[in-house]
Amino acid sequence: MSDPLRERLLRLLFPHKCFCCTALLPDGGYLCPACAKTLPRIEPGRFPNLPPFVRVAAPLYYKDGVRQGIHRFKYDGRSYYAAFLAGLMAERLLEIPGLPRFDLLTYVPPAPHKLRQRGFCPAGMLAQQLSRRLKIRVRDGLIGHTENTVAQMTLSDRLEREANARQSFAGVRGVRLHGERILLVDDVLTTGSTARRCASLLARAGAGEIWMAAAAVVPHQEWESPDMPRFSEKDVERAGIL
Ligand SMILES: [Zn+2]
Repeated sequence: MSDPLRERLLRLLFPHKCFCCTALLPDGGYLCPACAKTLPRIEPGRFPNLPPFVRVAAPLYYKDGVRQGIHRFKYDGRSYYAAFLAGLMAERLLEIPGLPRFDLLTYVPPAPHKLRQRGFCPAGMLAQQLSRRLKIRVRDGLIGHTENTVAQMTLSDRLEREANARQSFAGVRGVRLHGERILLVDDVLTTGSTARRCASLLARAGAGEIWMAAAAVVPHQEWESPDMPRFSEKDVERAGIL
């Protein structure tokens, strides 16, 4: 069967639905016209404040339809949503002046019990999609999950989240990095506790520069501070472990 015919058949059997509101999209795509207009995009050049050494690039705020869409992606495993989100993440990354040439891409490892339940890893799926777009190879197994079953999303207190992240992720014996520039992928950035923990493990294993790409960021007062410096090319040149 030719590819266009196969594509048409697939679309008839499994029509695309709008990422945000689930309206049917007979012509394919990811957003209905109304949701495309109101998609809560993070203004280019605005970065969540994640001290001390992780640069973050993310295209969307985790709210409204995006929140619902990511929920469906994570719990229904819609791979075409991974393609949609990774497409936006790649766009956001590529518009950053002087973006480093990453040596490898990795992702926040899933809790083993969640992987068993869902049968897939949303962050891993985003990493694979990003890998295709950015031509950077994915390397997994750089960060270990301790099988701690307390999910970060059940904790609202920042200190509790920091402590839980420390308990959830650990270094992997035998992993040795040699100054590689790494792009760490996750689906949603909430307080940054997981990102900080994973980045510090990568740094300890010998990573050089570490950036993070997330599909969406939970809007938080301090992350939307007008005082947040915009990255100039000079800032990007200086990026690294501060
Ligand atoms: Zn819609």
